[in-house]
Amino acid sequence: MDISLQKVEYRYAAGSPFEKLAIEDVSFSVPSGQYVAIIGHTGSGKSTVLQHLNALLKPTAGSVVIGDRTVRAGRKEKELKSIRQKVGIVFQFPEQQLFEETVLKDICYGPMNFGVSEEEAKNRAEYWIEEVGLSREILNQSPFDLSGGQMRRVAIAGVLAMQPDLIVLDEPTAGLDPRGRKEMMDMFYRLHKERNLSMILVTHSMEDASVYADKIVIMHKGKKVHEGTPREIFADAEKLKQWDLSVPEVVHFQRLLEHKTGILFPVVCLTMEE
Ligand code: ADP
Repeated sequence: MDISLQKVEYRYAAGSPFEKLAIEDVSFSVPSGQYVAIIGHTGSGKSTVLQHLNALLKPTAGSVVIGDRTVRAGRKEKELKSIRQKVGIVFQFPEQQLFEETVLKDICYGPMNFGVSEEEAKNRAEYWIEEVGLSREILNQSPFDLSGGQMRRVAIAGVLAMQPDLIVLDEPTAGLDPRGRKEMMDMFYRLHKERNLSMILVTHSMEDASVYADKIVIMHKGKKVHEGTPREIFADAEKLKQWDLSVPEVVHFQRLLEHKTGILFPVVCLTMEE
């Protein structure tokens, strides 16, 4: 399923005295099976973009094409339900959204809400709980008796059980230690590769964007200011500084890329670290 944003603008509280232009003229596409990272500082518009990806927000101008659906201002809610089924969003700290008595019920909740039979939902829960690295025994436990890391995996299994065509990850490793972060990011990467599942990662981390994404989109002050492959993005360190993306991180990014690709980048970037 392809996704594209075409000249998307969004104003919070449009038409009121509190109107706030959050994003403007944002266009980019995510072809089926691609892994795209959206990076940028706090307030750059990442969350606003993210909420357009499954029509939680509707653009105040421009359009969002999600598969065979187009979302524009004024579109009726009913038509948007099928979009929400196709796009799974893993919000920050997804474990905070767990609420059922058992892990099984929690994972089944989403699919059953979208008309999947109880039996099929149970089959999906048994399948996805293992795919996220947990055992089936956990299904009968209360989610609140699990560790924080396990709870997060349960919440992710709930999103995957909807069998979306696209997964949107909003800072999915927030609050995890470095090892937990890597395990989580590697898990998503495996799901992406094995199933050709489209992924959009919203992150502050240049490292994660560089290691995992096919394409990086940079947001700054509500606008998309740059997009390209990790190599292309990194090639111009000066440009990145202009958007407050810090150089040491970028240098680290360069080293990771050198390691990954075997290509050496211009030394000028390395000397900037000193
Ligand atoms: P990011 O996710 O990159 O931190 P956001 O999309 O949250 O950026 O914010 C983009 C802009 O929109 C910011 O100026 C922010 O203050 C504003 N904004 C975000 N949410 C709201 C809201 N609910 N009401 C009004 N303004 C908002």
